[in-house]
Amino acid sequence: MRFLLEKLTNYRIGWHYPEKCPIPFLTFDDGPLPNTWSILEILDQLGLKAIFFMVAQNMLQYPEIVKAAASAGHCLASHGYNHIIMKNLPLKEFQRQVFASFAVIRHMVGNQPCLFRPPKGQINPIQATWLISQNIRIVFWSHQLDASSHSLIEPVPSVGSASPIILLHDYEDINDIRSILETFC
Ligand SMILES: [Zn+2]
Repeated sequence: MRFLLEKLTNYRIGWHYPEKCPIPFLTFDDGPLPNTWSILEILDQLGLKAIFFMVAQNMLQYPEIVKAAASAGHCLASHGYNHIIMKNLPLKEFQRQVFASFAVIRHMVGNQPCLFRPPKGQINPIQATWLISQNIRIVFWSHQLDASSHSLIEPVPSVGSASPIILLHDYEDINDIRSILETFC
């Protein structure tokens, strides 16, 4: 986990956050969804950039949101083709999910994605090894929103000084998302 976080820290180079932000990684899963419009608006107001781990099927359903997120400078990454839980998939089927989702991103925004987050974070060692061999970075998370307390919790033990990776979902309550994002500015 620490290794992956350090790789991600390198990836951050070139991103532009306002000086006073503590530069966590903001990540949104499961979109795009209609709620994503409001998230893009808030990110824009606060001057923050995020990584959107999108589900390819949703991308095909909401292409305008995909284009708006890309042109606002956010990073688009893969969260699989149809959000199936992948850890029990044969490698060939897993590869099809990854390649098909990457193809959608490439087709819609012209970028070759290099980040992948498996649905529910579930992946097996054979799949992980194959992703690494393809130079695809697997991104987990260190903090996530707890809907009952409306705040961030840290389900993963501390990983030292590496930047935190915040997991939010496009479908989550927009007021919760706003108040969390405001703490970073
Ligand atoms: Zn998900």
